[in-house]
Amino acid sequence: MTKLTSSAAKGYDNRWKKARIVWLQANPFCVECRKVGLVVPATVVDHVKPHRLGQAIESGDPDRITAARRLFWDRTNWQSLCKPCHDSYKQRVEKSGEPGCSLDGIPHNASHHWNRT
Ligand SMILES: [Zn+2]
Repeated sequence: MTKLTSSAAKGYDNRWKKARIVWLQANPFCVECRKVGLVVPATVVDHVKPHRLGQAIESGDPDRITAARRLFWDRTNWQSLCKPCHDSYKQRVEKSGEPGCSLDGIPHNASHHWNRT
């Protein structure tokens, strides 16, 4: 019998703990730091698209839970980040409603100096 912690209630259970260790062994470096040429060990497995599994479970809606769980376990939706990148990345996403850059690392923001010619 294990006690249900708040993180387990959001889907971060033992299965996740094992899966993230395997993921970090296969993808040991922060992808954001790699974009700027830095090799930094990753400590966080981040969901690129927020899965909102916690909210889905709270809502009790089986369709939402299924969709959230699918997103949660979809490894194409995972990325390795270091803690500082995770925190700043998520803040940016929450502010703008979308990630700050494309898959190529080009910022969406047209006024960013990378997008000026
Ligand atoms: Zn980083």
